[in-house]
Amino acid sequence: MTTHSSGDAARSAVSLRAALQSLPPYKPGKSAASSDVIQYKLSSNENPYPPLPSVLDAVNQMSPEMNLYPDMTCQAVTEAVAQRWGVEPSSVSFGSGSVEVASQIIRAVCDEGDEVVFAWRSFEAYPILAGLAGATAVKVPLTEDERHDLPAMAAAVTERTKVVLVCTPNNPTGTSVTADELHAFMKQVPEHVLVVVDEAYVHFNVDPAAARGIDFFREYPNVVVLHTFSKAYGLAGLRIGYAIAPAYISAALRAVAIPFGVTNLAQQAALASLAAESEVEERITALVDQRDHVHRQLTEQGWDIVESQANFVWLRTGPHTTAAEEIFTRHGVIVRAFADEGIRVSIGSPAANQTFIVAAQDVRAHLDGATTPRNRS
Ligand SMILES: *Cc1c(COP(=O)(O)O)cnc(C)c1O
Repeated sequence: MTTHSSGDAARSAVSLRAALQSLPPYKPGKSAASSDVIQYKLSSNENPYPPLPSVLDAVNQMSPEMNLYPDMTCQAVTEAVAQRWGVEPSSVSFGSGSVEVASQIIRAVCDEGDEVVFAWRSFEAYPILAGLAGATAVKVPLTEDERHDLPAMAAAVTERTKVVLVCTPNNPTGTSVTADELHAFMKQVPEHVLVVVDEAYVHFNVDPAAARGIDFFREYPNVVVLHTFSKAYGLAGLRIGYAIAPAYISAALRAVAIPFGVTNLAQQAALASLAAESEVEERITALVDQRDHVHRQLTEQGWDIVESQANFVWLRTGPHTTAAEEIFTRHGVIVRAFADEGIRVSIGSPAANQTFIVAAQDVRAHLDGATTPRNRS
């Protein structure tokens, strides 16, 4: 008689795709654990504001219909986004978060062995999405000052390259690509390579020289722009993001999308958010002010940090990253640490940011102690 066990001890009867073995795990930002100190979760770039009342209303009005499938065409929100950007509705397509839209792009464009080029370090979902599609991730190191090295990225394009992902502002360093840099890049990249401008944090970008994806979409036939409602609009839990793309690409993205992947709750919340854009703007301005305040305070503490155009800051803590993370945790500040590289800290409420600033002073003292010659040997 054959017995079946489940769980860890189960025999692996089915062979899984080899690609799964080499996938890096996606680490979500840590959650606040129970503790004596007040804890602030600044590890996932979430918006610290609660939903706007009008957005909550819209969701509540829709919730009695959750027994029904959503509008698979996302018609109303497609039209609203098209109008917002002055593009054709045929150029707008949705996914359950822009991570899913990025996945649609790679699935729609890449065959096994095709290459996807992106900067590194950048968004940790990129190598996962490429690997899952059987594509090869080509990581091009950031410059010394934590920015995309677009000339090196252009040079990394081969005849196997199908997609280049440009994350601006870049997660986790916060640096943004200038319009001049992106124009120079576009002129070097062949037209059959799709350039995806991932603008998850674009609303926080106040650099007048920054590239705006929409301008590039209008000018070049091979540009797709990714936007999300998760960050500036504070809808991370509802999962809705979109691509603005040439119509034939939008059609392909709809074709590979998970059917009914975007709920009606998410569609209504996005619509209501677009209708409340001036309120959203106020919150964005407050977050940008807080970001600049945090930046100034850290600089005064002696941190040498790059200017962030996103809703987080990046501390290059290198080999001291784990020790620094522990100090932050002791202060109740939950951060996103990338071992041996650095720490990304989201801008939260003023109270959270103040706690972070105090903790950063402590970390600074630790680092300064660790790097004085006295303590070296
Ligand atoms: C957060 C983020 C996204 C979008 O996430 P969704 O919640 O899936 O919309 C996309 N790109 C980058 C770089 C991000 O940091």
